[in-house]
Amino acid sequence: MTRKVRTRIAPSPTGFLHLGTARTALYSWAYARHHGGEFVLRIEDTDVARSTQDSVDQIIAAMHWLGLDYDEGPVYQMQRLDRYREAVDQLLREGKAYPCYTTPPELDAMREQQRARGEKTHYDGRWRPEPGKTLPPVPAGVEPVIRFRNPHDGVVTWDDLVKGPISISNREIDDLIIVRADGVPTYNFAVVVDDRDMDITHVFRGDEHVNNTPWQINLFNALGAPLPLFGHVPVILGDDGQKLSKRRGAVSVTAYEEAGYLPEAMLNYLARLGWSHGDEELFSREQLVAWFDGSHLSKSPAQWDPVKLNWVNAHYLKTIDETRLAALVVQQLQRSGIKAQPEQVERACPLFKDRCTTTAELAQWLAMYFADVQPKAEDLAAHVTQAVKPALHTLRDKLAAIEWNKAAIGAAIKEAIAAHGLKMPQLAHAVRVLVCGRAQTPSIDAVLELFRRETVLARLQGF
Ligand code: GLU
Repeated sequence: MTRKVRTRIAPSPTGFLHLGTARTALYSWAYARHHGGEFVLRIEDTDVARSTQDSVDQIIAAMHWLGLDYDEGPVYQMQRLDRYREAVDQLLREGKAYPCYTTPPELDAMREQQRARGEKTHYDGRWRPEPGKTLPPVPAGVEPVIRFRNPHDGVVTWDDLVKGPISISNREIDDLIIVRADGVPTYNFAVVVDDRDMDITHVFRGDEHVNNTPWQINLFNALGAPLPLFGHVPVILGDDGQKLSKRRGAVSVTAYEEAGYLPEAMLNYLARLGWSHGDEELFSREQLVAWFDGSHLSKSPAQWDPVKLNWVNAHYLKTIDETRLAALVVQQLQRSGIKAQPEQVERACPLFKDRCTTTAELAQWLAMYFADVQPKAEDLAAHVTQAVKPALHTLRDKLAAIEWNKAAIGAAIKEAIAAHGLKMPQLAHAVRVLVCGRAQTPSIDAVLELFRRETVLARLQGF
């Protein structure tokens, strides 16, 4: 019987949603949607000291922003301690797990001796029950950890959805601690109990977990649970070839939202980073779902490419609904303390969006319509010259008297140029510096038309 596809993302809430986790979430989500299956959000909060609700909220907000809707969750591991207890009890009863009273100093000494003998450090199995073996006397006052009695023989093998067949001999694998002395399960154990209880069929995750998978497979088998398929996705590298990290720039989804990237662009870019569908570079969420069947995931690490991300974002900036774009730009303006009218922003966006890659950049352009501008001294000196000033006066008088539209503004500028024997760029640059606070803009008549006349008149005086 084939199982219904169920995938999950299991972030630890110890910070923001990292781009790498977002990408694995995206693959898990797309895979579930492609197969008409279900996608679960599980919060792995067993690291109690570092987990915060604030981080959970941020992760959920970032998933929501990317449009990664989940069918179940958030499920919190710390609310499932009873389930882990039951599973441990089962393993203890069946002799597949055992209490280990080795103290941390004893473990240190054990490793020290192994190193001295030139051995790879490992747990020596001193508390592992074996037929005919006498265990040490239980020490008083030591809370035991619970270890999994890993099989000694055989090989763990799985056909990784990304990396292909992988085999590890059980001889290489230690008896893993599955419950700490404080009763909290470790990652490898909780993850297996959860994936079993949640009936997860496909696990996509970062390849830093490849080494955990043999333990997890043995635990699934010990619990008598069906195995999911595993796909370990290679890391994302920064442009310096090192693992993408905070020190090397923005790594949280939220930071990109704030920087003015669109969710459809992030989704498109993240999906393509480590996966391909022919030569397609630009695709919608629906296309991704239609195409994403778990194949064509890259085996080699992907390189984060800010230039390409900008290109993808610029594409979506040009194509998204104008009212939505305006709302996003209004939000960006708000971030810089500028209050803007959405209708006015919507009218202005088409004029500037082709030269922008983000909504933040678009907001920088549009700020001049809603807040005072501060022309640079060097721009004033270069463009608002003695030769141009009389023409600026003439233009101001004309602008005060015309009907306020692009054609009339254009005509007024031409008349002022002609009256003073100037060339178009001389006057246009001066007007730009004074009114817009910068010497380069799109066509000046189109730019001015979007201002209130009083604003233009006010900025064209007092130079
Ligand atoms: N909490 C783990 C992580 O964030 C989950 C790994 C997994 O998907 O199994 O890396």
